[in-house]
Amino acid sequence: MRVLDPVCGIEMDDDLAVKAEYEGKVYYFCCDGCRKIFLKNPKKYRK
Ligand SMILES: [Zn+2]
Repeated sequence: MRVLDPVCGIEMDDDLAVKAEYEGKVYYFCCDGCRKIFLKNPKKYRK
């Protein structure tokens, strides 16, 4: 499955992505750095 990193906009395969859950939804990130940025301010990036 192709997924989109909401922080930097990079598309990748979900098996390579770093995952985080927020409000019951799973988000995917290219790296732990993007995940941390998301978790600091998830409202900015949630869909
Ligand atoms: Zn990223």
